Amino acid sequence: MKDEQLSFEKIKKLGIVPVKDKENPLSYLKSVRLKTVLENYYTDKVAVKEIIRKYDLPIDNVMDFHRYLPYYYTKVMCPYDGTKMCAAMPSRSNFKGHSPNVFCL
Ligand SMILES: [Zn+2]
Repeated sequence: MKDEQLSFEKIKKLGIVPVKDKENPLSYLKSVRLKTVLENYYTDKVAVKEIIRKYDLPIDNVMDFHRYLPYYYTKVMCPYDGTKMCAAMPSRSNFKGHSPNVFCL
């Protein structure tokens, strides 16, 4: 069976993993606000520079933004502890043909 195409809508349904790493500038956003930022990024295709400015994110280089994208829960269950495995969200330019590397948190 072929994997169905991933979209941001699907990721939202699967669930976004809260960003807890304090080194990550997105960890300062409340989950609702994080969703809005991601919506701007993936769906509205707002320029990254604009997103950083609008939400006052402490990111100096626009090229770094995609490195801070959160993880999302996949449908793959971990064979060891039975929890949902996670994957890194692709940058918007890599969404097409994205095949997630799943891991257990
Ligand atoms: Zn596990």
